Amino acid sequence: MIRIGLGRDLHRLVPGRRFLLAGVELESDRGELGHSDGDVLAHAVIDAVLGAAGIGDIGALFPPSDPQWKDADSMELLTVAFGKVKEQGWHLSNLDCVVTCESPKLIPYRERIRAALAAALEVDSDAIFVKGKTAEGLGPIGEGAAVDAEAVCLLEKL
Ligand code: MG
Repeated sequence: MIRIGLGRDLHRLVPGRRFLLAGVELESDRGELGHSDGDVLAHAVIDAVLGAAGIGDIGALFPPSDPQWKDADSMELLTVAFGKVKEQGWHLSNLDCVVTCESPKLIPYRERIRAALAAALEVDSDAIFVKGKTAEGLGPIGEGAAVDAEAVCLLEKL
């Protein structure tokens, strides 16, 4: 059996915060605002794997109203979420992601991001891909005020 999952997230970018993608810190004068560490890519991936397994979403599993998730490491949240997916007998076939922001460029960090996601999702890096896009200067993302991430995954159960 196979199941597809889709996740999406957006965070504001503000000075004084770290810019994290799958736990990898990118050099930037601003970073993601959030109750957790704000890791927009980790959040999109969590929703993709949970959605594919049909077992909820990030807001249900880790409510932002719960103080225990304040400044949480989102890659730890991904490990917890994927643990629930694995409990249902699923494993990841592949994951494909798009991150949209005006800066910084993702390419210098891409292999580290793939490796981090591969480790969390227990697959080889070649099962993970991440693309960086810009918004061509348009809208809040184009103005550098936000970053958006989308993730699509395929889960398999034998
Ligand atoms: Mg989020």
